[in-house]
Amino acid sequence: MLVLLAALVALSRLGFADWEHREADIMGTRITVELFHADPLIAAQAIEAVMQEMHRIDATMSPYLESSELARINRGAHRHAVKVSAELFALIDRSIGFSELTQGAFDITFASVGFLYDYRRGKRPDQAQLQAAAGLINYQNLVMDAEAHTIGFTRPGVRVDLGGIAKGYAVDRCISLLQAQGIRNALVTAGGDSRMIGDRWGRSWTIGIRDPRRKEGVVALLPLKDVAVSTSGDYERYFDDQGVRYHHIIDPKSGDSARELQSVTIIGPDATTTDALSTSVFVLGRERGMQLVNGLPDIDAILVDSKGRLHYSLGLQAAGNMDDYVKTSTETEPAENP
Ligand code: AMP
Ligand code: MG
Repeated sequence: MLVLLAALVALSRLGFADWEHREADIMGTRITVELFHADPLIAAQAIEAVMQEMHRIDATMSPYLESSELARINRGAHRHAVKVSAELFALIDRSIGFSELTQGAFDITFASVGFLYDYRRGKRPDQAQLQAAAGLINYQNLVMDAEAHTIGFTRPGVRVDLGGIAKGYAVDRCISLLQAQGIRNALVTAGGDSRMIGDRWGRSWTIGIRDPRRKEGVVALLPLKDVAVSTSGDYERYFDDQGVRYHHIIDPKSGDSARELQSVTIIGPDATTTDALSTSVFVLGRERGMQLVNGLPDIDAILVDSKGRLHYSLGLQAAGNMDDYVKTSTETEPAENP
């Protein structure tokens, strides 16, 4: 018995040593990478490659960097078609696909009004500004030329921002990089967007869904393998004014924050999809959001409504699935290996 215990302890120490873990702040968010490779040199190189890829995507797609390709579009596309990289063209094209799928709930031109909000300073557009901006939020204001790889705007005042999809895309890119390097077990997270390949020592990864109203609280624990998961919440970037919450997810129809839900978690095969859908379902609200999710293959969702109640998609409700996938807990974060 003792021998067995000793062997187990040795094994777990070995296991711990072989898992590489690193965190960094990139793309305005927290990036976390955990991965396993028997060769520590390959593991270290793989982690480095992930961080470099995150920096590369940030440099291309950041709305804050004057030098980014995205900023170049926003400066010039109302005057002339702006030529962009095949990569950025493809992601904007995919974003438009999500606009079509969600009847406009997902719309990267939300930024035409979105830039008038400053969540840190508690600033928001007034009624006159919202009226002046009417019609600017509409993905149909984008003119895409697939052959020339150019993007134009139909009118001045239009802006785009990939904040609702770029982190998920970056996670997918990093997972592809890791797979190409022969990594079979990894977790990559960028803020609320994660994707995992393989398992963690034969067990699932555990992803906690944060309680939208208690910082350290968790409302559900998801044991997951080989999937992507994204959470959108009204507690990420926000301010409250006279009991009303102004936060970073904008309903394209009104230019105001979407308020039917507190958080949306989407589980699916890739993080670009789960990222775009978590933002979309947040805007669509409980009924229309669930309807969309239940109609899509391989997509599941957990919603927290404005009263803090949880709602699960049909795939998670299916017999037996609930217990496997969702363990609700009103406790705070589980302790690390008690
Ligand atoms: P997420 O945390 O993935 O829901 O992304 C939120 C971010 O998506 C915001 O900070 C904005 O950059 C962007 N966003 C806000 N509203 C929309 C919308 N209606 N469609 C697409 N992107 C949006
Ligand atoms: Mg999202």
